[in-house]
Amino acid sequence: MSADPSEPARLVLRNARVVTPTGALDRGHVLVAGGTITAVGAGDGPADGTVVDLAGATVLPGFVDMHTHGGGGATYTTGDADEARRAAAFHLAHGTTTTLASLVTAPPELMLAATRAYQPLVADGTLAGLHYEGPYLSAARCGAQNPAYLRDPDLDELAALLDIGGVRMVTVAPERAGALDAIRYLVGRGVVAAVGHTDASYEQTLAAVEAGATAGTHVCNGMRPIHHREPGPIVALLRSPSVTCEFIADGHHLHDAMLSFAASAAGTDRAALVTDAMAAAGMSDGAYELGGQAVTVLDGVARLAEGGSIAGSTLTMDAAVRRAVGAGLPLADVARMAATTPARTIGLTDRGALAAGLRADLVVLDDDLAVRRVMRGGEWQ
Ligand SMILES: [Zn+2]
Repeated sequence: MSADPSEPARLVLRNARVVTPTGALDRGHVLVAGGTITAVGAGDGPADGTVVDLAGATVLPGFVDMHTHGGGGATYTTGDADEARRAAAFHLAHGTTTTLASLVTAPPELMLAATRAYQPLVADGTLAGLHYEGPYLSAARCGAQNPAYLRDPDLDELAALLDIGGVRMVTVAPERAGALDAIRYLVGRGVVAAVGHTDASYEQTLAAVEAGATAGTHVCNGMRPIHHREPGPIVALLRSPSVTCEFIADGHHLHDAMLSFAASAAGTDRAALVTDAMAAAGMSDGAYELGGQAVTVLDGVARLAEGGSIAGSTLTMDAAVRRAVGAGLPLADVARMAATTPARTIGLTDRGALAAGLRADLVVLDDDLAVRRVMRGGEWQ
């Protein structure tokens, strides 16, 4: 142990494959003190401190999920703070050390109440913030969003919501009346504007990017598909250097070939894995609910009971990582997509990689990339 009692105790994690921003160290170490990574390097590192032999395990940065509606039987969409804590704890056990809570299209009263209810969770770090997936979305591409509550962007409504605090991202369909003004307003308030659930043309999408949108919500899903004469939002988002594109890597929302093609088109610095999970993640097949609509989960695929639209996923981030690796993406790229890129996109510069000076958020995985242990802020969970 450190000889100076004023120094925080040092943890020496060694004998592990350590995935750093520049690649993987086949046998490396990570030093942690005071909740922060103090060094990452090759070999076993120093022996003074509490040495933890990871026996050849793989260490990735803690996952950052910028789009999720719940998990473990609990949902973020109703504004119940206890449920939100359970959902966050469920995903934490699967390696997600930073999460947004995604609301879906809902009446204004519910959005106000949920945003207020989650303030303590944002304050204590259980949530890194809120994401509104709606209500300013396209009726033609609403997927599992409740069409009854879709509406054009309203700056007064947005102002009231943002004034409560904790909102980090809002998804908007650029073709709705007032959408570009809303995007400019969001960006001016320090909130990430995302393009999604949209029937926009290529040019309309570029106008949203020009107005300041920097994210694409589950790109390919809930948007006009690619056509060679009207490339639409997918090509516009993949080609925009300022935009991070979310992908749901569960093998249902996206073909593995589309995932690897789209990730290579955007580049891993602009591609983020998200779960878009709903309450049924980690639970058995059966009847669930999303934003007031009945959802049936069969063989792990969540669909609206009426109409059959895919309604979120039952994914966890560790499963998304395995899927992306299985699709042929190198592990270091997948780590960027699961942690580094989403952290940067939502403005969290203190985490998202295994590098000195960053918050000690990490996931220890076995040879099959199953989670063995999770550390958040230097504490084993
Ligand atoms: Zn969603």
